[in-house]
Amino acid sequence: MNRCLLCEQQIDRRPTWQGLLGVEKKQHLCVACSKSFQRADIIEEGEIFDRVHSLYDYNEAMREFFHQYKFLQDIALAAVFADDLRTILKGRKVVVPIPMHPLKRVERTFAHVDELLTRASISFHQLLDKSSTDVMGEKTREERLAMEPLFKLKEEAVIEPITYTIVDDIYTTGTTLKQAAAVLKESGAARVEAVTLIRA
Ligand SMILES: [Zn+2]
Repeated sequence: MNRCLLCEQQIDRRPTWQGLLGVEKKQHLCVACSKSFQRADIIEEGEIFDRVHSLYDYNEAMREFFHQYKFLQDIALAAVFADDLRTILKGRKVVVPIPMHPLKRVERTFAHVDELLTRASISFHQLLDKSSTDVMGEKTREERLAMEPLFKLKEEAVIEPITYTIVDDIYTTGTTLKQAAAVLKESGAARVEAVTLIRA
């Protein structure tokens, strides 16, 4: 039986020719839940990152989705946007997820951006490390921003003069994306694009 990953209602399925042929995609959400997300396709161009494509608006449904996925650690929800991410990232040469601080990863039990990509069957390269080792909360926001950059290139990483695509869950102020893009460009990337699930 197929149930909606969000509301757990049974997904009503009438037999279709796709189903009979076994080529039908598995539905992860009921109609009501999938309609609650607002597809936006916002594209912005910049200097540090060349182009950002954000797929969805940050509405109430999306806020709840991320609360359940990231904070309540409902890892099964990574499947919900897998088709969208696969479509947008297919054929891109080097996909680079925004890394999570190692301490945070222990606390959250999984790297949520990596998991979105894994469920979308997109291969990715961890080229960046979170450079700050300070535990969050010990410093004020101003102190943190004035400190060292957020990311550094992994020691073994080799950057070529090609296009890299950074992936993050949410694009808010752009600080994260800009800092990650700057590291890749300073290391020799020709072009840095970004894909985010949400534009806040
Ligand atoms: Zn539902």
